[in-house]
Amino acid sequence: MQTQTFHITPSNIDQVQIDQAAALIKAGELVSFPTETVYGLGGNALSSASAEKIYAAKGRPSDNPLILHVANVDEVANYAAEVPDEVYALAKAFWPGPLTVVLKKKDIIPDESTGGLDTVAIRVPDHPIALALIQAAGCPLAAPSANLSGKPSPTTAEHVLEDLNGRIAGVIDGGPTYIGLESTVLDLAHGAPAILRHGGISAEQLKTHLPNLKTSNENAAHSPGTRYRHYSPNANVSLISDFASAELRTWLEEKQAVYIGPQELGNPHIQLSGAEAYAQNIFALLRQLDQRGVQHIAIESIDESGLGRAVMDRLRRAAGLS
Ligand code: AMP
Ligand code: MG
Repeated sequence: MQTQTFHITPSNIDQVQIDQAAALIKAGELVSFPTETVYGLGGNALSSASAEKIYAAKGRPSDNPLILHVANVDEVANYAAEVPDEVYALAKAFWPGPLTVVLKKKDIIPDESTGGLDTVAIRVPDHPIALALIQAAGCPLAAPSANLSGKPSPTTAEHVLEDLNGRIAGVIDGGPTYIGLESTVLDLAHGAPAILRHGGISAEQLKTHLPNLKTSNENAAHSPGTRYRHYSPNANVSLISDFASAELRTWLEEKQAVYIGPQELGNPHIQLSGAEAYAQNIFALLRQLDQRGVQHIAIESIDESGLGRAVMDRLRRAAGLS
């Protein structure tokens, strides 16, 4: 299959190309598109055949459910059997945006889209191309990250093509994504609200709306995605913290490791500081260093508050620590 590339500027949506991409989705094909988090691999979430194509293209285990992307909160009631009041309050505060809610599903959603679960994950993405595509396709888009399963998530169309060229019908190149990390997944279907995956909306932000929020892993059984190997480059990744600079320099030399972090340390090194910069760059850097054949990457840990919590979650997985 030849993968068609569309080039669309987010600030100047080309409706002709959006309609062409949407036609592929209506015909049951897959199209990757940018969201504010990472690039998604979109297919009709109401079609079991499209969902199966998504799993096949990514090499994703079929029990790892897909997130439905819709254009606004009013659509949620079409796909969720129960919509608690919290959903409307959260939508007001965070949608469009990187927050996914898990709710009891309606039968209209095929089991293939939800990995056989009786719940469905839904969000409204904050990206003009994503919203235009959902509207033109006329259906909710199931859209996991558009990478081969296990690889770092894609934050540019080039990353998508690295993994999926020839395996999907199209990709919309809309430039780099804004946040660089996936959405926060919030379980509202099993008692007290619980974070299943940390992401673009922080636990602190959610707590102001959900005082009884659970942020630990108590609900992990409801989050199949967290069981799988994720975000792994070919290189060995070490997470480092609390090293004195001199010691660290020697260690980096011994390991011939590339350092990523706030210090100007080691040769070569990539200077990065703050959770936002880590989030925006980390997946792209892991891919880049793999392409250069780097064997060992040493990444300095950051503070786990706010977006830092989601960043550290991804780094621990990249390092094989969880
Ligand atoms: P991805 O879209 O590839 O970033 O991954 C989607 C994430 O959402 C995975 O961690 C899934 O386990 C999680 N997810 C999707 N649907 C559900 C659901 N119905 N219940 C719990 N977690 C879900
Ligand atoms: Mg993913």
